[in-house]
Amino acid sequence: MPLLILAIFWSFRSLMPTNGNTTVEEEYGFSTDMAFTHVEAISKQPHAVGFPAHETVRAYIVAQLEDMGLEVTLQEGYTAGDWANYSKAVNIVTKIQGSGEGKALLLLSHYDSSPHSSLGASDAGSGVATILEGIRAYLETKATPKNDIIIVITDAEELGLNGADLFANRHAWTKEIGLVLNFEARGSGGPGNMFMETNRGNEKLLKEFVAANPHFPVTNSLAYSIYKMLPNDTDLTVFREDQDIEGFNFAFIDDHFDYHTVRDSYTRLDRKTLTHQGSYLMPLLTHFSEADLGSLKSLNDYIYFNIPVFKIVSYPFDWIWPMWLLALSIFVVLLIVGFKKGILHIKEVFLGFVPMLITLLINGVLGYFAWSLLTTLYPGYKDILQGFTYNGHTYILACVLVSLAICLQAYHRFKKISIPNLLVAPAFLWLLICWAVAQYLPGASFFILPVFALLVCIAISIYQKEPDPFLLLFLTLPAIFIYSPFIAMFPIALGLKMLVTTTLFTTLTFCLGLPLLGRYPKKKLLGSLLFLGFIGTMAVAHFQSGFTEENAKPSSLVYVLDTDTKKAQWATYEHQLSDWTSTILGSEYTMPETSSSTIYSKYNSRFTQVAAAPLKDITGPVVTIEKDTTLNGNRILEVGIFPQRSVNRLEVFTNATPIKKASINGIELSEFYLKDRKSARLFTHYISDNDSTMLELSIPAGAELELTIYEASNDLLEHPMFTIPQRPKDLIPMPFVLNDAVILKKTIRH
Ligand SMILES: [Zn+2]
Repeated sequence: MPLLILAIFWSFRSLMPTNGNTTVEEEYGFSTDMAFTHVEAISKQPHAVGFPAHETVRAYIVAQLEDMGLEVTLQEGYTAGDWANYSKAVNIVTKIQGSGEGKALLLLSHYDSSPHSSLGASDAGSGVATILEGIRAYLETKATPKNDIIIVITDAEELGLNGADLFANRHAWTKEIGLVLNFEARGSGGPGNMFMETNRGNEKLLKEFVAANPHFPVTNSLAYSIYKMLPNDTDLTVFREDQDIEGFNFAFIDDHFDYHTVRDSYTRLDRKTLTHQGSYLMPLLTHFSEADLGSLKSLNDYIYFNIPVFKIVSYPFDWIWPMWLLALSIFVVLLIVGFKKGILHIKEVFLGFVPMLITLLINGVLGYFAWSLLTTLYPGYKDILQGFTYNGHTYILACVLVSLAICLQAYHRFKKISIPNLLVAPAFLWLLICWAVAQYLPGASFFILPVFALLVCIAISIYQKEPDPFLLLFLTLPAIFIYSPFIAMFPIALGLKMLVTTTLFTTLTFCLGLPLLGRYPKKKLLGSLLFLGFIGTMAVAHFQSGFTEENAKPSSLVYVLDTDTKKAQWATYEHQLSDWTSTILGSEYTMPETSSSTIYSKYNSRFTQVAAAPLKDITGPVVTIEKDTTLNGNRILEVGIFPQRSVNRLEVFTNATPIKKASINGIELSEFYLKDRKSARLFTHYISDNDSTMLELSIPAGAELELTIYEASNDLLEHPMFTIPQRPKDLIPMPFVLNDAVILKKTIRH
């Protein structure tokens, strides 16, 4: 039993460099301390596009690169991307000249932070710091690379990948690039995960990645398959979609609650995580600065996963069905032998399904309803829009403990079934799962490997009455090493609504451990102990459930002034109002009326409460009609929108009139976007330098156009016309929604 626990512990521990194991520092001279000084310098202030610190951060990065003797240029331009988020972007671009003629390697990350409160230490200060320190360490070796190494630190990634769009589509160096390494973050800790970005198969990229030999690779083809099915949005996606340039993303995703908040700070970034990002960059930089980057495209896909000792195990997709058929054949042969030898009995085999199905049902239901139950008990959790609470890891542990307790109790009740008969049900179920996976999610087909170990266990159990427990433990290791990471992976990656994957993976992994655990005589006692552990863990989670200075509650407040009706409102996105917000809203707040123009936010959040607010004399934007003509059956309208105060963002909605063409300050919105518009929102302009907006539209002749304009400034808390009390220390501005803003609404019909 202690050995089993040790194996589980090791399967997590081996994912990341530990503080004492810093090979990347010794081998490559990459200093985590130096990287941290960059993160600290970058994350002093929020530095989103248009914010004062944005320029300071850019100047810092340029100075660092110039100090290394590199010639830096700034690429400046405006783009609107795939989602009509118009913004200025200023990319930082430099190059280390290679000696050869081959394709170039691109190192990529972004320097803008998310508006409005994020300090951007992890996202993506960590990426910039990894590249700056990696390049310093590399140049220190005085090596001349064979390939050019291009470094691009993009801008406006958080708004709509605008900087990547600008570079990939308008910079002359794009056509030289053969491979991209992109560094990102979506939390403030955990291992860096490698995600390949490909238009075809992964074979050659994977083989080169393995050849580069990073010490702590964390990656698997299940994540690759899922990633390929989802609409992606990293800077690298733009290079792949627009220019067919492929590459690797390295992103850490744990402690998701810090993402895009003021707590994405230097102090909260995990040191090991930053070392881990460096432990990818250094060997890959060394390898890919010499490798032939012109021949990395391939049509074949490979299954792969990381595992202690072997690092990466991989084999072709072509093996998926032969391996499954082989497993099925072994299973059938074992059944025949087992029945012939009188060791398997039909009745007992069927009885063996009962505890398995019962535990799957109970644990499945528990996991499925866990998140709704938790948000009912603790409504404040809904205000963490990331869906991962500060005590999220405790809930994952609680789910593991309760699932195991239920498994042990159920199998205790069916202890009369002999081990060989008990093992038939899990083998059958796992073969079924592997069939489904091969059919629908082939990247997860490495799930078959522990099934082979289970089949060997069945064979041993048929031939031996008292098999060697160490042999059984050894055969349980593949299940532990391969499945343990998945027990926590989905809630960490996708939020606690995925706790059902934790309870089910725990149950299914337990079933694979039955050759060993089924023989354990004190199942009932152990089950009870684990249940006590579950109660204790839930108690701990309860004590961690409140919001404190350390674990601050997201809060939101905006002032919305309708300049047409001269009515003003306070509005919030909070589900559980904080005292601060409710003091400002007063006692007379109501649910807002639903409207088609929901101000854009990542999770389509809508205002939860609104209340009447005092009318302030703030001047709205001046809107002018510059042009109104008819051409070839289309009405061409040019509308100018001029801010009369310091603003950060402009969002424009239209009525149902179809928009055939639209351009903002001369940049056309993509036709695909206009045709397939999901909401009334036409575009968002993230404003730098108080720019005005010139909107040119083409609509059917004779049609009437209605534009609803929201103009926002993020200065509510410092605005001289308001006296808003300081936000208490146990609150942070809610991320992903427009916050601390003065919003002016204006409607024009023409
Ligand atoms: Zn980012």
